Amino acid sequence: MTTTIPHWFDNKPFSGTSGNTAPVTNPASGAVKGEVALASVEDARAVIDAAAAAFPAWRDTSLAKRTQIIFKFRELLNERKGELAEIITSEHGKVVSDALGEVSRGQEVVEFACGIAHLLKGGMTENASTNVDVSSLRQPVGPVGIISPFNFPAMVPMWFFPIAIAAGNTVVLKPSEKDPTAAIWMAELWAEAGLPAGVFNVLQGDKTSVDELLTNPAVKAISFVGSTPIAQYVYATGTAHGKRVQALGGAKNHAIVLPDADLDLAADAMVNAGFGSAGERCMAISALVAVGDIADELVAKIKDRTDTLKIGDGTRDSDMGPLVTKVHRDKVASYIDAGENDGATIVVDGRQVQADGGADGFWLGPTLIDHVTTDMSVYTDEIFGPVLSVIRVESYDEALELINSGPFGNGTAIFTNDGGAARRFQNEVEVGMVGINVPIPVPMAYYSFGGWKNSLFGDTHAHGAEGVHFFTRGKVVTTRWLDPSHGGLNLGFPQNN
Ligand code: NAD
Repeated sequence: MTTTIPHWFDNKPFSGTSGNTAPVTNPASGAVKGEVALASVEDARAVIDAAAAAFPAWRDTSLAKRTQIIFKFRELLNERKGELAEIITSEHGKVVSDALGEVSRGQEVVEFACGIAHLLKGGMTENASTNVDVSSLRQPVGPVGIISPFNFPAMVPMWFFPIAIAAGNTVVLKPSEKDPTAAIWMAELWAEAGLPAGVFNVLQGDKTSVDELLTNPAVKAISFVGSTPIAQYVYATGTAHGKRVQALGGAKNHAIVLPDADLDLAADAMVNAGFGSAGERCMAISALVAVGDIADELVAKIKDRTDTLKIGDGTRDSDMGPLVTKVHRDKVASYIDAGENDGATIVVDGRQVQADGGADGFWLGPTLIDHVTTDMSVYTDEIFGPVLSVIRVESYDEALELINSGPFGNGTAIFTNDGGAARRFQNEVEVGMVGINVPIPVPMAYYSFGGWKNSLFGDTHAHGAEGVHFFTRGKVVTTRWLDPSHGGLNLGFPQNN
C-alpha cells in the first residue's frame, strides 16, 4: 500500500480534494515510498484560510506565551531530531549525520527565536513635543508563505518559520514535492508543543500551490528559496500582488586558493564543500580557482582524498549518498559528459561509481574536472551535484574578476596565509557570504543568510535581525494625555513646540 503524504491545517492532516499526487522516492533504492498530495486551488485556499483565521488570536497572544511554545518546540526537536534526520535521508538521500547537521543548524534559528522579545522591543520618546510622547513598535505582518527547495527540507523552512511564528504571524509552508514528509513531521511537533490550530500549516503541491500563495490577498509576505528562474518569478509575481518578498536563488560558489595557502587544509575543504550532500547545497563549492603554480599539487591532493570516499545508502556508514532523483542524477551526469567533450580533464569520474546501495539508486560519485575554462557549461551553469571544476589562473586579480563577473553571489571562500590578501578579498568580492579559510561560511542564526546578485531578489536576508524585520512592520504612535487642548481650531500642519 502506498502512503499518502497530506497537507496540514488546523493541527490535522488533510488529504486534499484534487486527487492529484506525485511520487516520492527513496533515492538510495529508487523505490517509490509514498505519494504526496498536490493541492488544487481550492485545497490551497482551505489551507490559507486556516492561517488567516488563526492570525488575529495568535497576534494577540502574549509574547510570553508565544515564546514558551517556541521553547517547547525547541525541547521536543532537540529530543527527537534523530527521527527527522532519518526522514530527510529517506527522501533526500543525504547521509544521516549530514541530515542531523542540517536539523541542528535549523534548531539554532529556533533557539534564536526563543529570545525574540529583545528584538521586538520598540522605542519611546517622552516630550517629543510639549506633553506629546512618540513610541514605535513592530507588529506581525499576517499570514506568511514559505516556499522551500528539496535540498534542505528541514533547515531552510526553519530559517523562517520560528521567527515568523515568534513575531506573531501565522505560516503556510509549501515544501518541495520531492521530500515533503519533513514538513508534516515538524507540523506534528508544533501541535505537540501546544501551538494553536492554524498557526503552522503545510500546503503540499507544485506551481498551482505556489501561484495561489503569490496571488491570494490573505498572504502578506513570501519567503522563497530555490533556483534562480523560479526565485525571479516568485519575486516579480509576489511583489506585483502587493506582498513583501524575499526570494533566495541559485549559486555557483567559487573558492580561490592562493599559492601561499596550506594545501592540505584547502584540499580537505574542497572535498568537504564540493561533495558533501552530493553537492546539493546552495553553499557547495563547485568552482575551485587555483592561482599560480599550485594546481598540479592541489589537484593530486584532492584526488587522493576523493578516492577514499565511501558512496552509498545514507543510513549505512557512507560519506556521500545518492542524488535526489533519477532525472537530476542524469542531468548532472550530462554536464560531466559535456565537460569531457569540451576538452576538460576528468581526474575522478563519478559516472563509474560502485555504490553501497540499491541497484536502482540514483548514484553518481564525486567528480573532479581539471583544466575547465569559462566557456564550458560545466563552469557556466549551476550543476547542483558532486562535480568540482578546477580553473587555473595566474593571479589573484584574475581570480577575483572571475567571481565578480559571474551572475551569482551566494557564497565564496579564499584559502591563504596572507592576511592582507584575505582583507582585500573580503572587501572586493561581490558575494553575500565570504569564508576565509572556511569553505561553507553559513552565517549563525543571529546573523543573516543571503547572497547578492542572482542569488537573492529582495533586500532582506534570512533570519537574524533582518529576518525579524522581514516578518514585522513598523508603527509609530503619537500620544498626548496631559493638556489635551491644542489651541482649538487650527487647520495648519501640526507644529512641534
Ligand atoms: P526549485 O526552484 O526547482 O524549487 C523550489 C520551490 O519552488 C519548490 O517548492 C518547488 O515546488 C517550487 N517550484 C518549482 N517550479 C516552480 C514553478 N515553475 N513555479 C512555481 N513554483 C515552482 O529548486 P530545487 O530544485 O527544489 O532546489 C535547488 C535550488 O535551490 C538550487 O538552485 C539551489 O542553489 C537553490 N537553493 C538556494 C539557497 C539559497 O540560500 N540561496 C538555499 C538552498 C537551495
